[in-house]
Amino acid sequence: MPAREVLRLGAIGAVAACAAACAGQPAQPQSSHAVQDRCGGEPAFAAGGERATLWIRHSSEFRAASETIYRAAADALARGLADPAWTAEPTQAGDLSALPPAVIMDIDETVLDNSGPQAEMLLKGTCFGEFPRAWDDWVAKRSAPAVPGAAEFIRAAREARDGENRAVRIFFITNRECIPRAGRDAACPQQDDTLVNLEALGLGGATLADDLMLKGERPDWDSEKLARRQAVARTHRIVLNVGDDLADFLPAVRRATVAERDRERCAHRDEWGRRWFLVPNPMYGSWLVALGPDMDAAIAAEPGVPAGCPAS
Ligand SMILES: [Mg+2]
Repeated sequence: MPAREVLRLGAIGAVAACAAACAGQPAQPQSSHAVQDRCGGEPAFAAGGERATLWIRHSSEFRAASETIYRAAADALARGLADPAWTAEPTQAGDLSALPPAVIMDIDETVLDNSGPQAEMLLKGTCFGEFPRAWDDWVAKRSAPAVPGAAEFIRAAREARDGENRAVRIFFITNRECIPRAGRDAACPQQDDTLVNLEALGLGGATLADDLMLKGERPDWDSEKLARRQAVARTHRIVLNVGDDLADFLPAVRRATVAERDRERCAHRDEWGRRWFLVPNPMYGSWLVALGPDMDAAIAAEPGVPAGCPAS
């Protein structure tokens, strides 16, 4: 889930209220919750997220897109397992043949679908100050469903073997973090909750507690995920990386500009669809932070991401 600033954006207004301009078009859902007065004049936390949340929750298109990504990832995994020099981590180099294979996956909107609380926050008009509690209440329910295709991919990956007949270990690198919870003695109730949620989806395993790497578990495990990927890379050959945010793959893009982020996308163009697989998430992410607080200006601007990449 994003940091608070992720959705600190101006409300779009009634997102589908196209009035006379849309005369003759089929009826579409109209927003009745985008603008809330209860947050002291600030937009509510999820303001402007109506269409994105509807797409995730109700469209066959999202399901098809996500399943497409995961089937392509499974095919790439087979290729990567057969090639002992193959790695999805740019900082991993040298002779990797002694290392068993691993896959790195993000959790939220990659493995677990949190569109339910997004919808709830839209309906309630949850304010920014209320978000941490609302999010933790959701995590404590341990009931997130799987992102389409993710569970099937994980089960198949764990059945796969490399050329040395070594199994694939899946490491979940998430920016869910340990936060004390009233009435609980556990040092990290969020880790317990996430483990139970994954197990309920049939995604448990003997090493799952070690394979789930939360933000802040160790001093250098901050919001940037590079240190955790490098920790995995010391013991495993990272065959694939699957996430929903550019920051799941690359360092220093969480607060970068739109142009800076896209230069990084282009600089790693050979990874996408080969060793890196990105599940669409239009609800939130560092892409939204990059747009800044003025949604109207962002809507009016020319696209900040060019169609292609500079010749390398
Ligand atoms: Mg995510």
